[in-house]
Amino acid sequence: MKCPFCSSLDNRVIDSRLSREGDVTRRRRECSRCERRFTTYERVEEILPLVVKKDGRREAYNRLKIIAGMRKACEKRPVSSETLEEIADRIERFLQSRGDKEVPSAVIGEEVMRQLYELDKVAYVRFASVYRSFQDLDAFMRELKELIQERGGADGRKTRRRQGRRLAARGPMPRVGVRVP
Ligand SMILES: [Zn+2]
Repeated sequence: MKCPFCSSLDNRVIDSRLSREGDVTRRRRECSRCERRFTTYERVEEILPLVVKKDGRREAYNRLKIIAGMRKACEKRPVSSETLEEIADRIERFLQSRGDKEVPSAVIGEEVMRQLYELDKVAYVRFASVYRSFQDLDAFMRELKELIQERGGADGRKTRRRQGRRLAARGPMPRVGVRVP
């Protein structure tokens, strides 16, 4: 395994842990050259359905893309990377349980929203407000990035934080029309 910092192939495993469901081994490694640490995940290769995009193009299911989208929606929220990995696992089990060879990207988007709704209402609204208006993961990711950057500006984020958790949990108003169930 190549070190992501210096590309050295020489490293040692300092910790190894099995996920709660027992399907992923997480290994903490230390590079022998630069001594920095990184994590690798090992899992059995699973057959996941092809994703059918809105324009009809097919592409391979991309776990990293799903996690990157959720991570953006969860920016500055109390959500760990481990939780996002678990959600991705749940989404993959859901996709496999459908038993279809292909799945519309909208089905995945809806499932991500469902999971985020349970997890963190702010992340949910961020994701939903952008995703529902695009139904396309790539356009959505670009837009979400802008949205979060805007909100990170002079919109009283600090004030809101000071007003406490209860208020923050209610989340910002979505920019485009979205019904929060
Ligand atoms: Zn290194």
